[in-house]
Amino acid sequence: MNAPTLESPPSAVGAARLLDGRALALQVRARVAAEVAERIAHGGQAPGLAVVLVGEDPASQVYVRHKIKACEEAGIRSYSHRLDAQASEEALLELIDRLNRDPQVDGILVQLPLPAQINVQRVLARIRPGKDVDGFHAENLGRLAAGFPALRPCTPKGCMRLLDSAQIDCRGKLAVVVGASNIVGRPMALELLSAEATVLIAHKQTRDLPALVRQADILVVATGVPGLIRGEWIKPGAVVIDVGINRLGDGSLTGDVCFQEARERAAWITPVPGGVGPMTIACLLENTLEAAQNAVFIPV
Ligand code: NAD
Repeated sequence: MNAPTLESPPSAVGAARLLDGRALALQVRARVAAEVAERIAHGGQAPGLAVVLVGEDPASQVYVRHKIKACEEAGIRSYSHRLDAQASEEALLELIDRLNRDPQVDGILVQLPLPAQINVQRVLARIRPGKDVDGFHAENLGRLAAGFPALRPCTPKGCMRLLDSAQIDCRGKLAVVVGASNIVGRPMALELLSAEATVLIAHKQTRDLPALVRQADILVVATGVPGLIRGEWIKPGAVVIDVGINRLGDGSLTGDVCFQEARERAAWITPVPGGVGPMTIACLLENTLEAAQNAVFIPV
């Protein structure tokens, strides 16, 4: 099947076309909803996602609410588990063990960040890889690194979907990923490598970032530094994917790329908001359905 093509307005001189994550996410979510409905019509169980929130971080509460609402709209059952900010690591690990055993639960998502008393790596390692719909377990990251992925991290997967939707072929292109976190930058670089791009990864110790960015045919930025990437650094005709979501003092959201400057030089660019963010949620739903389809009952 051909990748769906985004309908983009014809570009004015010097204005990049938008990679519209909102529109593409609606298509992905509609397809997941249709497959869930078909599964239920054939006597299957609705996929189930357990969402675990520890503490009261306001941004995490908003993300969790969006994820639960998106599940409902797709016919996926969600199970919300809240622990208070002082909860022990043992309490969280016990909850994960229970969810690992629960046949109603196909996917487990532990909202990050976690409070300081809890070791994130131990928590992620406890989730059964087949239920790790965020794709953060070392087994899932290892499989992505080795080129035989199972559940893939949602944000980089969403970025790849955006590239596919515009029929952007990564083969042989120079891709620069700015940011090297385990949840975005590193798996993003692995995705691009799997798509046969030549990949460079930059991080906060990288010297002369502008010189590196200037070479990029495909640029993906995930640093959390608002407006880090200036328009004049962008190679004319480049594809720019801005993963950053930063809240400014006036309450508005902005990315890690100076959008107005960058769109004068790029061929394609993601807006913030409305670019990568909606795709992350859409890919979470897709991963939950995939986990349900591949579920095997293993008594623990
Ligand atoms: P992180 O803080 O874990 O990692 C940031 C990375 O950027 C690090 O590797 C760091 O070395 C690098 N970095 C920081 N400053 C830099 C600089 N000046 N030059 C070069 N590299 C620099 O952050 P994260 O969790 O990867 O998130 C990054 C951004 O993406 C944040 O704005 C976050 O809100 C956003 N995000 C968006 C989505 C989405 O769905 N759109 C999902 C996850 C994260």
